[in-house]
Amino acid sequence: MPFLDVPTMLLMTAAASLTMAASLGAVRPARREGISLWAVGLMMHTSTYVLYALRGLVSDWASIVLANTLLSGTFAMVLAAVHQFQGRELPWRRMAVPVAATALLFAFFIDDYRARIVTAGVVPPLQLGMVLWSLWRERPAASLRGATLLSVGLVMEVLLLGVRGMLAATRDIPVEGLMQGNAMQSITFMAAFVVVILSSLGFILMGKDRSDADNRYFAAHDALTGLVNRRSLIMALERDVARAVRLREPYAVMLVDIDHFKFVNDSHGHLAGDSVLRHVADLLRTRLRAQDLVGRYGGEEFMVLLPHTPLGGALELAETLRRAVERLPCVGGGKDIPVTVSIGVCGGPLQPADGWDRLVQGADEALYAAKLAGRNRVESTALAAPRPAPAPAVD
Ligand code: GH3
Ligand code: MG
Ligand code: MG
Repeated sequence: MPFLDVPTMLLMTAAASLTMAASLGAVRPARREGISLWAVGLMMHTSTYVLYALRGLVSDWASIVLANTLLSGTFAMVLAAVHQFQGRELPWRRMAVPVAATALLFAFFIDDYRARIVTAGVVPPLQLGMVLWSLWRERPAASLRGATLLSVGLVMEVLLLGVRGMLAATRDIPVEGLMQGNAMQSITFMAAFVVVILSSLGFILMGKDRSDADNRYFAAHDALTGLVNRRSLIMALERDVARAVRLREPYAVMLVDIDHFKFVNDSHGHLAGDSVLRHVADLLRTRLRAQDLVGRYGGEEFMVLLPHTPLGGALELAETLRRAVERLPCVGGGKDIPVTVSIGVCGGPLQPADGWDRLVQGADEALYAAKLAGRNRVESTALAAPRPAPAPAVD
């Protein structure tokens, strides 16, 4: 069987690593995500493979000891990059010890190729095992696709180096030297090439996965209060109303508006105003049932969606919320800021012609009435009861 040419494969892997490192230079993440550390690792990987390709042309100290130490350094940088991606401290000891061990072992086995293959079957898999452990110990929910791709690359490398080391340790396989073309060398270096591409793409994808998840979150949530935003509220309301009409279920909507909030801003400052918004948001969130949804509808106005709730029940809940806000002032900056809210409720039997906007309009009218009536109170608007079908004409 014709074997692949080893020096060509070594240089191909070096070229792939260098290309990936240069491409990563073009990635400018908004926060530290380990990309630069990964690129440094790839540069070390490039140097490793260039030194391998120069076997016989440069001293063994460079092509064996230095090259393998650089390879171990590559895996240490992979570990560092994953830690930085996760926002954790760099694990200096777990990075440095394997690199030092690699340097010593390869210096010791400089004339023993078989022992070096066995060493390469133990130390790097341990290093990559640490990377996999760090990657999955907290399930990387937001970056699952990227983390999976990266893991596939790392597991491939672990299996290959491990099996090769084991075969070299236990069987009398041909171990003539690095440049000898044989099946094992072909598979090993082909895999190294694939692993560089697979794991680098996986790592880049992890960053993309995470920013996609952030974007999805902020498209649906309000950054100040953490509640869902107006867009999500309207989407949920549209869906709920269609369902309530179909199943003839009662449905109610509440608009909660902080009283004289402009005065809070003017007298205590905008930051205190923000604290009041968070305080009211938390109060509402913690007092609702699981099926209810509260969101920030606008400035100092919140909307609460109440599925399966007749108007009477919604009014009772609104009164409970109003009293809770009145009873619990917002504590911040050493002083209590008293807060009250006015609430407009709209609900009742929905007609097929009723859209979600009918409910919002009703709640808005009720809120206006509550403000007019002196604030810190609940008012309601009932949706019109279904009109009785016209009696058949009698001649
Ligand atoms: P009313 O009792 O009639 O509701 O009076 P109000 O002062 O609460 O209502 P108005 O609509 O006059 O003022 C609302 C204020 O809310 C004005 C705006 O500056 C403020 N506001 C809106 N969004 C924010 C925010 O995110 N943070 C802070 N601190 N203030 C905000
Ligand atoms: Mg207000
Ligand atoms: Mg308002």
